[in-house]
Amino acid sequence: MQFRDLKTQYQTLKPEIDQAVTDVMTASDFISGAQVTELEARLASYAGVKHCITCANGTDALTLALMAWGIGTGDAVFVPNFTFFASGETVAYEGAVPIFVDVEEGSFNVSAASLEQAVETVIKEGKLKPKAIVAVDLFGQPADYREIRKIADKHGIYILEDAAQGFGGSIQIDGKEHRACSFGDISTTSFFPAKPLGCYGDGGAVFTDNEEWANLIRSLRIHGKGSDKYDNVRIGVNSRLDTIQAAILQVKLKAFEEYELEAVNQAAKRYTELLEKEKSAGRLPKGMIAPRVKEGFFSSWAQYSILLDNEEEREHLQAYLKEKGIPTMVYYPKPMHRQGAFAGLDCVKVDLSVSESLCKRVLALPMHPYLEAEEQARVVEAVVEGLHVRAKS
Ligand SMILES: *Cc1c(COP(=O)(O)O)cnc(C)c1O
Repeated sequence: MQFRDLKTQYQTLKPEIDQAVTDVMTASDFISGAQVTELEARLASYAGVKHCITCANGTDALTLALMAWGIGTGDAVFVPNFTFFASGETVAYEGAVPIFVDVEEGSFNVSAASLEQAVETVIKEGKLKPKAIVAVDLFGQPADYREIRKIADKHGIYILEDAAQGFGGSIQIDGKEHRACSFGDISTTSFFPAKPLGCYGDGGAVFTDNEEWANLIRSLRIHGKGSDKYDNVRIGVNSRLDTIQAAILQVKLKAFEEYELEAVNQAAKRYTELLEKEKSAGRLPKGMIAPRVKEGFFSSWAQYSILLDNEEEREHLQAYLKEKGIPTMVYYPKPMHRQGAFAGLDCVKVDLSVSESLCKRVLALPMHPYLEAEEQARVVEAVVEGLHVRAKS
C-alpha cells in the first residue's frame, strides 16, 4: 500500500503526460515557455483571482509575497505553531520575527482567539510592528478566513494565505463558493509532488488580485528585472517554474478538476464512516478522533489525520500498522516554537498547548485519489486491531 500513490496516478495519465513532456522537448523552450503562461491563466481562473505568478517552489512563493510587502527587520508576522517549517522559516529569512499562534484541535488551523491575543500582546509590548498573518490551510482545509479577516482588518495587517496543502479547498460565504488561493491579500501554493496538485519536481505559485504586487513579484522572481532580464531595477531572486513542470501540471490540473478532487473526498468520507462505525460499536477508544471539516468548508485532503489519546498510543499504532504493511506519517512531530532554528528568537507570546498536544497525538493515514475502498477497509481494520492489541497488553 502506498501512502500517496503517485505511481498509479502516472499510469492513469501516462499518455497525456508523456505527450506533454515530449512537446516541451521538441520545442526546447525550457524556461518561460508558452505552457507556463497558459497554466498561470488557468490557475488564476480556477482560484478566482486576477493574477497567478508561478515560481520554483512553495517556499519561494511565500518569500516572494513577503518581499513584495517589504517585510523585514522590526516586523512581526503571525504564524500557526502547527505547520510545515517553511511557513515560519521564510518570515525569519526576511529578518522579521515569526510569532507563533496556537491552533484549533478540530480543524488543525490557526485559532482566531489565539491570533487576536498574540497581535494584542505584540502591540502592547511595542517592540515589533505587526505586519501580516501567514494563515495555513493545513491538510487541505481552508483556515477560517471569516474570523481571520476581521482580526486582520481591525489591526491593519495583511493575510498571506499559505495554501501549499490547500489547493482545491473552498468555503461557502454568503451562498458563494470561495476557493483556496483567493483568501489572502496574497496567497501561495506548492506543486511539490505529494501536495494536492503536484508536479514532477519542485514548483509553486503566488496569487493576488493586486496588480501592483503582481507586477512586483513578476520582477522579483527574475532577478528584479525592469523592462527586460538585463535591466535590473531591484534585488530579486531566480525562481521560475520550468516549462516541463508547467506542461505536466496542465495535464494534472485537468484530472484534478475532472475527478481527483471528487475521488479524494469520497475516500475521506469512506474513512470517516468506517471509523465512526467502529467507534460507535465500541471497538475504538473514545479518544480516537477522525478529522472534521467545518460546516460550509470543503477540503482537498492533503492529509487524512486522526488523533489518538496520547503519544504512547500513537507510537504503538504506527509501529503496528507498519508491521501490517500500512504506511503512516506524523505531521508534525514538533511544534514550530520548539524548532532549534528559532531558538534565539522571541517568538512565543501566547499559550501553545493545543499545538503541543496535537504533535503527540496526530497520525496521518494513507490518502490519495486512487485509494480503493478495500484498502481503506484494511487500514481501519488494522487501526482497530492495533488499538485493541494495545488495550489488552
Ligand atoms: C509544502 C509546504 C510548503 C513549502 O512548499 P515547497 O514547495 O516544498 O517549498 C509551505 N507551507 C506548507 C504548509 C507546506 O505544506
